[in-house]
Amino acid sequence: MASLSLRHINKVYKTDSKKGGAKEKPAVCDFNLEIEDKEFIVFVGPSGCGKSTTLRMIAGLEDITSGELYIDGRLVNDVEPKDRDIAMVFQNYALYPHMNVYANMAFSLKMRKIPVEVEKTDKNGNKYTVTKYKKMSKEEIDQKVKSAAKILDIEEYLKRKPGALSGGQRQRVALGRAIVRDPKVFLLDEPLSNLDAKLRSAMRTEITKLHKKLETTFIYVTHDQVEAMTMGTRIVVMKDGYVQQIGKPKYIYDHPVNKFVAGFIGTPQMSFFSCTLNGGKLTLSNGAALELPQEVLSSIVATEDGMEVWLGVRSENVHLTTKDDKCSFKCNVQLLEELGSETILYGNLDLNETDKVVDGENSLKIVAKISPNANLSVGDVVDISFDIESLHLFDKQSENSLYIASQGDIVGRKEE
Ligand code: ADP
Ligand code: MG
Repeated sequence: MASLSLRHINKVYKTDSKKGGAKEKPAVCDFNLEIEDKEFIVFVGPSGCGKSTTLRMIAGLEDITSGELYIDGRLVNDVEPKDRDIAMVFQNYALYPHMNVYANMAFSLKMRKIPVEVEKTDKNGNKYTVTKYKKMSKEEIDQKVKSAAKILDIEEYLKRKPGALSGGQRQRVALGRAIVRDPKVFLLDEPLSNLDAKLRSAMRTEITKLHKKLETTFIYVTHDQVEAMTMGTRIVVMKDGYVQQIGKPKYIYDHPVNKFVAGFIGTPQMSFFSCTLNGGKLTLSNGAALELPQEVLSSIVATEDGMEVWLGVRSENVHLTTKDDKCSFKCNVQLLEELGSETILYGNLDLNETDKVVDGENSLKIVAKISPNANLSVGDVVDISFDIESLHLFDKQSENSLYIASQGDIVGRKEE
């Protein structure tokens, strides 16, 4: 059980450039986070954004360039990894192939030396203590391995070698190796990436259950936003070494602080439209317009007439409607994904774009979750409308949210 405090943590890698001279590459910039005991924190972001580097600094496998790391109130920047009471599980779980499951799980315990204070008396009769290192007893190791195996439901595989296990079972053994050590903090770096989709989703639930059972602090790294949303009590969204937003999954989904977070969290991805905002009227690049109601206008920061903004719409906030609806748009159906329980419509608000898909700035592509019984075909032109109270608005220049409620959450990279 442990709380952690990361204060202004920075990591700069020094790499040797081919042209000579060392280059400095910032990998993590001004990372601040207070983690409470027993939290399940998820670091999420695209590949290369600094998730593993942050985790490795917490584990002590990587030096902290500047900043302070506290575990349970103790500054641990210079504490050896083995003395941090932390266990880490990696994507490549690297079990010892020649050892059976039991031996794999017992290995680190056998190697571990436990310090014991022994009292001695010198020849003048004065007492003093020396620290001796004792190995863990066979019985104690046995008890720990068996109890971890029970938690993970792998008792029947203890005699098998890793080669005779499925991917999911191997990943459980890797977790078992961490559990036997009774760590204060569990660090998991993309532990499910090597598993197939079905197993991954099953293991997600297992790890969440494990967290509840062990009542320990978990820090979990993933690039998969579904894992982040479903597992984390709080998630930390990162980009280019900078924290973008920290919060409960649902809060971040509903109140993304900037366009990046809005686009990264949620599937299908949020649709974005480049717009001009004029006295409460949003005009899209094709001239279509949307009048923002007073309740929306009073919840956003003051804007100047003619301000360039991004309008963001989640797929569940787009509906098929009738053309009488005052904020309806015409939409060209380009692709329909029938998933059974729902259908994902990929369309374009630019009716001239029948087959060419425009990307980037002036894209008018839209994704909508519609009823599986809608009975549409590719090429149809339909009327759609947006849930106006669920729209997202971002300043086009800074890409930060325009909602007043989100202003306090704006962290990370401010100026380029
Ligand atoms: P993530 O885990 O989010 O994919 P990493 O933390 O592994 O990202 O990497 C962050 C950045 O630091 C990347 O640009 C990566 O190339 C760089 N980096 C990681 N490890 C090293 C290293 N040992 N030496 C130099 N650069 C590194
Ligand atoms: Mg990584």
